[in-house]
Amino acid sequence: MASNLIPITVAHGDGIGPEIMAASLHIIKEAGARIETEDIEIGEKVYLRGGTAGIEPSAWESLRRTKVFFKAPITTPQGGGFKSLNVTTRKTLGLYANVRPCVSYHPYIETKHPGMDVVIVRENEEDLYAGIEHRQTDEVYQCLKLISRPGSEKIVRYAFEYARRNNRKKVTCFTKDNIMKFTDGLFHKVFDEIGAEYPEFEKEHWIVDIGAAKLADTPEAFDVIVMPNLYGDILSDVAAQIAGSVGLAGSANIGAGAAMFEAIHGSAPRRAGQNLANPSGLLHGGLLMLVHIGQPDVAELIHNAWLKTIEDGVHTYDIYKEGASKQKVGTKEFAEAVVARLGQKPAKLKEASYSKEPKQGAGDAYVPKPRANKQLIGVDVFFQWNERDPEAFGKRLEQLNGDGLKLTSVSNRGVKVYPEGFKETFCTDHWRAGFMSEQTGGPVTHNQIVGLLGRLDKAGLDFIKIENLYTFDGQKGFVASQGE
Ligand code: NAD
Repeated sequence: MASNLIPITVAHGDGIGPEIMAASLHIIKEAGARIETEDIEIGEKVYLRGGTAGIEPSAWESLRRTKVFFKAPITTPQGGGFKSLNVTTRKTLGLYANVRPCVSYHPYIETKHPGMDVVIVRENEEDLYAGIEHRQTDEVYQCLKLISRPGSEKIVRYAFEYARRNNRKKVTCFTKDNIMKFTDGLFHKVFDEIGAEYPEFEKEHWIVDIGAAKLADTPEAFDVIVMPNLYGDILSDVAAQIAGSVGLAGSANIGAGAAMFEAIHGSAPRRAGQNLANPSGLLHGGLLMLVHIGQPDVAELIHNAWLKTIEDGVHTYDIYKEGASKQKVGTKEFAEAVVARLGQKPAKLKEASYSKEPKQGAGDAYVPKPRANKQLIGVDVFFQWNERDPEAFGKRLEQLNGDGLKLTSVSNRGVKVYPEGFKETFCTDHWRAGFMSEQTGGPVTHNQIVGLLGRLDKAGLDFIKIENLYTFDGQKGFVASQGE
């Protein structure tokens, strides 16, 4: 292997995958990319051979060695029992960042938002997607939302580094920290802290609801947007859709040790094998890959040739429009048209420009903060209790006070219902009771909590979980119920 070539692992996928991968690699190689490809098999055939994850163990060997995965879309067979290859790859390789540029190409591709050029950077590993869900009572189910400082720092730093490498001007953060003060609050705080290390960018934070409305209405007001997992999942689809270019968008999944690049569309089986498919989505994934492996010069060359091809009206069937387009071409001819324009720049569409500065930091080196002084000051005990009378429940729990612990309040779905609740508050069978030290704010021991649980058990109460209540350097590490 020549030492200046970067090895990348390529999967040709299913349906239109092999055709659009051949076309994309042709363009990338003709543009002088310094890469060496090695092929692996993924997708339908592997699933049907009995590999429930759609990928062979031998393929991991290549991926772990090259650490760069260029992936064509695959077909997930119908029926249960097949695991999502994307989720498996993301989890196995620790791909914490999902990056999706959503760009409109007005007037060549129809869109209501001609000036849109937004990149969504989505956290990919935590939030409500940690998959920790429980049914706790007959009536209540729970999904745990986890936001960590290392996870937030990595994604926010990645967003700023991306902005720097792609000559962007502004980075926006979306959270719902007016409601989720701890989880989303941490993400917002980290955005402010890390943002301070990048003075060259304009920075702003939006509450996700109004931010999403603004994004859908005036996307040209945004540049790079970084978000926790759930909001990013939803809004990256909204953004791609309103840009009018779902079929043209690529995406990157980035981790500390590896990265995966693909189109956002699927394998379009009905179009397979007819030299019809548009290779642009996968090619855009390839551009993100070239920047990632330190070849922004090649990415820029291809990107501008691609823009010129679109501008010249050379279009595949999916974007062909009588009047606006000039020539309807197949997959191979489209690739040739891009190759023929290498070195040219668009006249009307915004020219692509990438920073040629060497990569400064991948954004994944986490330096732990000094540990806080953590003090146990109480416990929330959760119960299933099927009578809907808060007063009776509170009184019953008070009888179990003792050993220095006392009941402070009872809540139902986060609303205080005892003492002094409103009888109008609807109660489910899922209750939370807070117990704290008899001396206000005083310390509590694990032993006192174990004693309390013993008393609750003896009283025949069905406790379903506990959450310890701590202070961290004197600051409360929990949120009080509404009405407390
Ligand atoms: P799809 O994205 O494959 O197709 C949706 C529509 O867009 C179809 O009309 C299709 O013809 C068209 N289309 C998509 N890509 C195109 C292209 N490059 N050029 C021209 N037209 C294109 O979505 P689907 O039909 O819902 O799914 C088909 C298969 O793809 C399913 O098995 C699904 O599981 C899989 N899928 C895979 C991925 C992936 O591998 N990342 C993503 C989404 C769907």
